[in-house]
Amino acid sequence: VKGDIIEKNFTPDAGKLKKAVLIYGYPSSIYSILKMKPDFPRYFEQLKAIFTTSEQLQPGVRQAIEKAFNRPVFDIYGANDGGILGCECKVHQGYHFNFNHCYVETIAHTSGMNELLLTNMKSLTQPFIRYKVGDVGSIINTQCGCGSFWPRITELQGRTRDMIYLPDGSTIHGSLFNKIFYSLPEIESYRIIQQADYSIHIFIRMNEGYKLNDYSLKLKDKLAKQLNMLNFEIFPMPPFDSSNSKFKIIESHVV
Ligand SMILES: [Zn+2]
Repeated sequence: VKGDIIEKNFTPDAGKLKKAVLIYGYPSSIYSILKMKPDFPRYFEQLKAIFTTSEQLQPGVRQAIEKAFNRPVFDIYGANDGGILGCECKVHQGYHFNFNHCYVETIAHTSGMNELLLTNMKSLTQPFIRYKVGDVGSIINTQCGCGSFWPRITELQGRTRDMIYLPDGSTIHGSLFNKIFYSLPEIESYRIIQQADYSIHIFIRMNEGYKLNDYSLKLKDKLAKQLNMLNFEIFPMPPFDSSNSKFKIIESHVV
């Protein structure tokens, strides 16, 4: 499936899927495909495992994917800028990571949880030390049930990206907004809240020295191209709220 919008009646390429050994994708996207096309697993004849990445894998979603494909799901945790790539092993108790590439520490976060700090050991041209990647989690250095002594990151909790729903039943993956806002470096942060009537409230915080009003038109134009079926409104981000909502960037109230 290409892009972020999953068409309601997409046609899988049966010839390609027949030979596929692995599936790699966002858990929410794989889950959405299964919801729209419950017979999707039947296209695979040589599938060994499913690798999920980029967002928090909800236990219910993992179960549903494993059950539908009758194959194990291995979740991946990675942050290219931090030089980290971690993956679950067969016992699924954390993410083993390559400590030669990344030195991982934790510090207490105001929420009471631990925040990961990454030091990229492979960034040889520009030191990148104790990078606050924005994810919460813990580190375990004891031997894993799989036999490996490689350290593990556990209790990851900061990567939820909800789906945005369209009235016709299709969905948009939250990473779409990353792409839109990434192209406007004047934006510091954003939060997306979809209301029960499908409309979207977009809260924007600009970097210092920039005014949201000056960018509203440009932003509306970019968003309208992607969200042509949905009404949306742009608001300035309310003052920082230190409650646990900090890590929920995208929220949908469509039932
Ligand atoms: Zn292990």
